[in-house]
Amino acid sequence: MHSAQVSYEQQHGLLGNLFPHSIALRFSGRADGNMSFTHGDTSAAPGNRRRFLQGSGIDASRLVCARQVHGDAVSAVTEADMGRGAFDADGAIADTDALITDRRRVPLAVFTADCLSIFLYDAQQQVIGLVHAGWRGTRENIAGKTVQAMMRAYDCLPENIYAGFGPAIRSCCYRVGDEFAGVFKHGLVQRDNGWYFDLVRANTEQLRRREIKQANIFDCSICTSCRHDEYFSYRKDGGSCGRAMAVLMIR
Ligand SMILES: [Zn+2]
Repeated sequence: MHSAQVSYEQQHGLLGNLFPHSIALRFSGRADGNMSFTHGDTSAAPGNRRRFLQGSGIDASRLVCARQVHGDAVSAVTEADMGRGAFDADGAIADTDALITDRRRVPLAVFTADCLSIFLYDAQQQVIGLVHAGWRGTRENIAGKTVQAMMRAYDCLPENIYAGFGPAIRSCCYRVGDEFAGVFKHGLVQRDNGWYFDLVRANTEQLRRREIKQANIFDCSICTSCRHDEYFSYRKDGGSCGRAMAVLMIR
């Protein structure tokens, strides 16, 4: 049976494939339905979340969800946070775009439609981080700050951290205004008709500046705009479109 989720995990070897016994990693496709309580048709979201995570060893009722604001705040979470935002919008952890934890069986979730999800895993300390990075979060160095938070909170060393980039709008499709040229040193691509932004390139630079090894950085290379038949795309669908769910958990 065709499933965007299965093909994503099987074909693109992100961190879940590197450490199949240590971490669970999921990224939903359009066919899995809207996962958001704040964007798109939210009525089916509870059922969609349950169905999507069924059989993955992740209990949807334990999800720790971020109420994202395109900022640079990182929240360290524990068992006490389990269920926050799992089945309602208000309970999600406010004003945060990155979640980190060293606890087993505490699933982290962020929500995207074109924005970049970044999966982080320290195989030594058994620590994970999950980041929502659009251009504004990237401008604030959310990826670098999340690595820093993992180092401070859990004694992670950058050389032990693996990073994976989920489906997101890519520089093929992400046309931006001239003002980006004054903001970003990395990731801008100039074409005849203007500037394009490469979120993955910009975030790779931020991880590299935090001394994450290039060999430990993985990218699924999926453009949500090119592949909007399979993934939610804010640029293609408009502001009322649904959101995909990125989930990461230490088993
Ligand atoms: Zn594209």
